[in-house]
Order: sequence, then structure tokens, then C-alpha cells
Amino acid sequence: MALIVQKYGGTSVGSLERIQHVADKVIQAKQQGHDIIVVLSAMTGETDRLIQLARAIHDQPNPREYDVLVSTGEQVTIALLSIALHARGYHARSYTGWQAGIETCSTHKRARITKINGQAIQDDIANGHIPVVAGFQGIDSSGNITTLGRGGSDTTAVALAAAFKAKECQIFTDVDGVYTTDPRIVPEARRLPIVTFEEMLELASLGAKVLQIRAVEFAGKYNVPVRVLSTFNEGPGTLITFEDSSMEQALVSGIAFDRNQAKLTVCGIPDAPGVAKYILGAVSEKNIDVDMIVQNVPGVDQTIDFSFTVHRDDYPIALEVLKEVSTQLNAKGVVGDDKIAKLSIVGVGMRSHAGVATTMFKALGEEGINIQLISTSEIKISVVVNEKHLESGTRCLHSAFGLHLEHP
Ligand code: ASP
Ligand code: MG
Repeated sequence: MALIVQKYGGTSVGSLERIQHVADKVIQAKQQGHDIIVVLSAMTGETDRLIQLARAIHDQPNPREYDVLVSTGEQVTIALLSIALHARGYHARSYTGWQAGIETCSTHKRARITKINGQAIQDDIANGHIPVVAGFQGIDSSGNITTLGRGGSDTTAVALAAAFKAKECQIFTDVDGVYTTDPRIVPEARRLPIVTFEEMLELASLGAKVLQIRAVEFAGKYNVPVRVLSTFNEGPGTLITFEDSSMEQALVSGIAFDRNQAKLTVCGIPDAPGVAKYILGAVSEKNIDVDMIVQNVPGVDQTIDFSFTVHRDDYPIALEVLKEVSTQLNAKGVVGDDKIAKLSIVGVGMRSHAGVATTMFKALGEEGINIQLISTSEIKISVVVNEKHLESGTRCLHSAFGLHLEHP
């Protein structure tokens, strides 16, 4: 019998009625002849509530205790769903992370799964029972409870699917799939029937928050087909899988945007080796992640400008660091802007087609949108624009690439 891992997110188990509904869905899949492993999140809002409790006592709660606390949300839902399954006459058994044999490293709050000792779950499946596993948690080699980072239940599900060689890992959520862009911004946005791991990684990290990024990385690494589906509406959802030659390939699969960006530039730096390292080294010492990086060629005065983007929350500190760096490098000064947004087009199809960038820049130009920075990778082109153009820019790109149209 084919094994399927089904993961239900926080809104899907947000109330007793919804847990009952999930029980019905699990049984439906079971009746279709599948073996099922269920992975659950905590009830929606619960993890936030627990974090607030801890912070109300201490602004930097001890990470070990933090993990003990926030992992409790999932323990509630796995027990309730198991009880709901019992009430329907099915054998179900709940497992916390350690009971399920999910071993992790010791980095509290964002631990990585290192190994799964799946004997108990294996036995359940062999006996026709339904294991219900708490997402988002594991145990380190010293026996401490760990958690996998916000949204980590997705990663638990994918890891179990990989360990048990499941046919598919189904992620049930409150949207019915991955969209060409956010439908709240572009009402014509369409559900993508299929995307590649690579595309999903770009779309996920660019702000389409359907899946935890780590889960997508994991799925790609172990080749686990993942399907994003709605708990509340029937439908095929979006399949995330490897690129295969028979796949009907659109040039661009989706438009992602990120409004939490800020841009900084050190101007008029004497052109010399080691400058980039000097600037970015100072920034990373403050634990600030840098995203886009652009350096221009030296002008007539033999100086360069060096720009990069950071998360908007990091802007004030990054600006301070750069002011010091600028003096040390004998540069002309620092300018910054935290009212910017990043728009990106993503698609494996663009690998083999020239002219995608031209289409993108033409569409933005005709819309009167000025491009401040550009960066490209094999399957992505990103631009930084003024934040006020986020909506109109996303819309015009969506239509320039025909994403509102039915796929052939
Ligand atoms: N409950 C955890 C969170 O809210 C994990 C998850 O839901 O995936 O981040
Ligand atoms: Mg989630």
C-alpha cells in the first residue's frame, strides 16, 4: 500500500470542529487504500501565545526552556486528533517528536533533523494504525527537547516522508495551492498545478509564505514530491517536484515580492582590493544578512559605489555601521532608503530563453516604474523599486508574462 504523509497546519486544526474535519479527511485517505502518517501543527495562534507568555517573564528566555514551552502546542493537537480518530473506530497513536524518534542537532529554536528512528511508527503502519506526529520538534543527543524554527511542522512532514519513502507529502493549509503571485494583490493570480523544487525555493524565500523554506530544501535533497492542498476545498493543489522534460514549461512561473527591504550605498570609495569584504564583513559582524549586492565599475575619479539590501528591521544598525566604514575607507558618504520593495520573476523556463529580462524591464518602464537595482540568477530576476510601486509592478509583470492566462 502506498504511504502518504499528511500535514495539517494551524488553521486546519484551529478548533474542535476543524479537528473533527481533519479526522474525516484522514479516514477518507485511509479508505482510499493508503497508509497514512499524520503530522500536525499547534492550533492557530497557540505558538505565538506561548512565546508571549515566556517573553512576559523574560525578554530573552532560556532557549532550552523556550523549546520545552513552545513544543507543547503540538502535543495538544496530536492527542485531540487521535481521540477524534478513536471516536470513529480507528486506531491512532499520538507521538511527540522524541517519541517518534526525531533526532536533531542541539541548536535550540532552529534545530535541524539529523536522524529518524522510525521503529514505533513503522510498527504502527504495519499494524494498520495511524501514527499522529507532533510537528516542529525533536530531541537532541543529550535528551533535550528542540524545535525546528517557525513553520517547522512542514519540515517534520517532509523528513518523515523521506525517511519512510512516502509516495507523497501532502501539506494541507488554508490556501488551495501555490499561486502565480499573491491573489490579494493580483486578483487574476492563478494556482500553479506544478512547480519545481528550485522555483518553490525562490518563491518561498521571496516571501510567498506557503511552506517553510527548509522543508522545500529537504524535499529537493531527498526528492520527496510535496503537494500543497486546501483542508477546506477539494482540488488537486500544487505539486512541487523535479523538473521533467515532459513538463509544459512556462517562461516565468511566478512573481514574488518582498516589502521588508532596505537599500544602502557607500559612495565614492577609492577602488582597491578588499573593499567589498571590508564593508560586508562589518555588516555581518552585527549578524545582519545581506541580500542583493551591486558594485559599479570605477568612474573617471577611480572610485566605486557599493550597494546592497538588508531586511528593513536591520536598516538602522546597518546604516550606523556603514557610516563608520565609510570614514575608515575614506569614501564620500553613505546613502540609504528603507522605502523600497523587491520584485522578482521566477521560472526554470527562463534558463533556456533570452529576452525575459527585456520583457520585464519593458513592462516596468511602460508602467513608469524606475528600477534601482537589478540582480539575476539562473531562474530568477529581481529588481528593487520604490515601495509605492510594489502593487502596480507586480500587476504589470503578472500580465506581461501572461500569468493570468490558462495554461495550454
Ligand atoms: N507551531 C509552529 C509555528 O507556529 C510550527 C508550525 O506550525 O509549523 O511556527
Ligand atoms: Mg506553516
